[in-house]
Amino acid sequence: MLGFLAPHYRIASVLELTPERLRGLGLENLLLDADCTLKRYRSEQSAPGVAEWLDTLRQAGFGLCLVSNGLGERIGQFAERVGLPFVARALKPLPLGCHRAMRKMGYRRESTAMVGDQLFADIMAGRLAGLTTFLVDPIHPEEEPWFTRLKRGPERWLLR
Ligand SMILES: [Mg+2]
Repeated sequence: MLGFLAPHYRIASVLELTPERLRGLGLENLLLDADCTLKRYRSEQSAPGVAEWLDTLRQAGFGLCLVSNGLGERIGQFAERVGLPFVARALKPLPLGCHRAMRKMGYRRESTAMVGDQLFADIMAGRLAGLTTFLVDPIHPEEEPWFTRLKRGPERWLLR
């Protein structure tokens, strides 16, 4: 029960996802949440180390695409800054945005993972799309809007 809310892996930060670890799991592509995963909610810059991490994965040949519930303009600016393709208004926890990104990028389910900080968005969407899922600790979650913070209590409860 509730398997669609259970991440396959929990990590402190995306920086833990090295090319070696991802290859060891048979993964070639990552769908990446933006807010609180790659950056602080209120920041337009990626968190420390993230730009270098993205470069490392790109140079190692990994496919990378942002999948965010944020609006196109805001997410598009961030995507441009970090040099990534993106799908905005992804409607996570529905799997639609993941499917759109996989079609756009030509990714296969078996070799793709969804990476994000929210059970009720990223993990559920990734699970419903049949992907491997990584839950990261959110970067400065206190900056999120109230409707996102509401979900943190039940999330903590479920993770125990
Ligand atoms: Mg997020």
